[in-house]
Amino acid sequence: MRSELCNRCGSCVGLSGDRIRFGDREGKYLPEIREELSDAEYDRIWNACTGGRFDFPAMRKQIFGDTPGFHTYMGPYQELYIGHALDPGLREAGASGGILSAILIYLLEKGRIDGAVVTRMSRRKPWLTEPVIATSREAILEGAQSKYIITSVNEILGSIAAFEGRLAYVGLPGQVQSVRKLQQAGDRSVKNIKYIFGPFYGNTLHFSSVRSFLRSHGEKDHTRIRKLYFRYGEWPGNMRVEMDSGRIIELKKFHANYLIPFHIVRNSLYCTDFTNEFTDISGGDAWAPVYEERGKGFSLIIARSVAGRDLLKEMEKEGRIDLSPVTEQECIEMHSHGYDFKKRGAFIRTRFRKLLGKDIPDFGYELKGFPFSRIMMELVISTLFLVLGTGAARWMVERFSPEFIGRLFERSRTRWKRSTYRIKRNELG
Ligand SMILES: Cc1cc2nc3c(=O)[nH]c(=O)nc-3n(C[C@H](O)[C@H](O)[C@H](O)COP(=O)(O)OP(=O)(O)OC[C@H]3O[C@@H](n4cnc5c(N)ncnc54)[C@H](O)[C@@H]3O)c2cc1C
Repeated sequence: MRSELCNRCGSCVGLSGDRIRFGDREGKYLPEIREELSDAEYDRIWNACTGGRFDFPAMRKQIFGDTPGFHTYMGPYQELYIGHALDPGLREAGASGGILSAILIYLLEKGRIDGAVVTRMSRRKPWLTEPVIATSREAILEGAQSKYIITSVNEILGSIAAFEGRLAYVGLPGQVQSVRKLQQAGDRSVKNIKYIFGPFYGNTLHFSSVRSFLRSHGEKDHTRIRKLYFRYGEWPGNMRVEMDSGRIIELKKFHANYLIPFHIVRNSLYCTDFTNEFTDISGGDAWAPVYEERGKGFSLIIARSVAGRDLLKEMEKEGRIDLSPVTEQECIEMHSHGYDFKKRGAFIRTRFRKLLGKDIPDFGYELKGFPFSRIMMELVISTLFLVLGTGAARWMVERFSPEFIGRLFERSRTRWKRSTYRIKRNELG
């Protein structure tokens, strides 16, 4: 909890019967023990924790066995697609192609699940997120779109256990991994979960990012937020804040990315799972000029389990989604910067941590042997994260217009993407 490795998945909170709770959700958002638990209860929670330990190869073997496809960056898969929901409303409501929400709605309508675990913006505090069990199309859509501040889906493990019926579950990699560990242990809290889906995962931000964004626009009180979106409007969408006063503040998603180095949650830097490798189906944005220029919304979809693949094919046949197969190489090139960040950067950053004598995560595998230039590049990136994460740097950036900083950030990102384009051909070690 204090090691910077906590990914806030929420399992400890969800399994503790309210004796562990998240502290200041607008601050560090860390679990706090309010009342001691028994040794057996701690063991159960410790087993579900994925911040410190999760054995990728062993879990992969156990869940998926042999699959037709596997890539160290993307994990195991049956098939790879670019796609989107065919219902235009659904497609627009989603973060990219609306695929994840379309799948949940399809399963619900077919009676294959009775509810879906999704994350929506809180009704009581619309600037924070909250997990819910959605039992209608409307409720699933309320949870659509990506939330880039901390979410702790597994804090509702108690409600999941008490739910009468079958569930689909959507979570980030650390959250999904925790559910997998609980399933492996035969834990009663996850017995209702029949399908697991999830978005790709670059990083999450502290709530300070929202506060800083507001301050840059001259708004001092975040409790005046009426609605907060991270991907509003046509893909890739805008960060949009609607205030009680009626004021609307909007910034292109790519420009709002400038908040990342100032407010990134440190665990994101050590997480090596970019594509949500333990889901039945995972989805990310189809980042490629050919799709980005067309707008509307396209997802890159990885069908990992046989059940996931069959479900996608069935939905395609019934005219619910559009799917076009893509090659492994196209996928790698589309997210080369993401893989570079997670499958190279994270391992190098972890080694830096080890050199400093800090706790490091054990994922049961390690990638190494990167070129010296890449290690030097990481030194620069890590120093930037350290410097830009300070109060002084955050204060400084708020003196500039977010549009200006955003444009600067987007240009740097494009350069980074170009420089990592050929990542697959480079020596991995
Ligand atoms: C924090 C975060 C980081 C991401 N980083 C990348 C990236 O670097 N590259 C990339 O290609 N894609 C990334 N994505 C995924 C991308 O933004 C889309 O979520 C993905 O393309 C699926 O789109 P969709 O339209 O099918 O999903 P939708 O139909 O919009 O459904 C999204 C589902 O995910 C759930 N969800 C949303 N946010 C969260 C959250 N924070 N925690 C738990 N569940 C959540 C929703 O409740 C919903 O059920 C990220 C997503 C998140 C949440």
